[in-house]
Amino acid sequence: AYVVTEACIKCKYMDCVEVCPVDCFYEGENMVVINPNECIDCGVCEPECPAEAILPDTEGGLEKWLELNATYSNQWPNI
Ligand code: SF4
Repeated sequence: AYVVTEACIKCKYMDCVEVCPVDCFYEGENMVVINPNECIDCGVCEPECPAEAILPDTEGGLEKWLELNATYSNQWPNI
């Protein structure tokens, strides 16, 4: 799955949300997150983010962000 990371905080350009074919982005107060269970790994959102906040979870070291994305995509909108 792809994950939204720190660079998204207070950014929210939302370009990524519009291109996602499965609508797996969820909007919080300060950032958006991706539901890792719904993401189909298409990668379309990655180049759309001007802040380069979206990364594939295969990158490593993103456990904390993956967990945050998983948690908050089910508890909108309390980020
Ligand atoms: Fe949506 Fe594809 Fe990005 Fe996953 S990789 S969040 S399915 S646009």
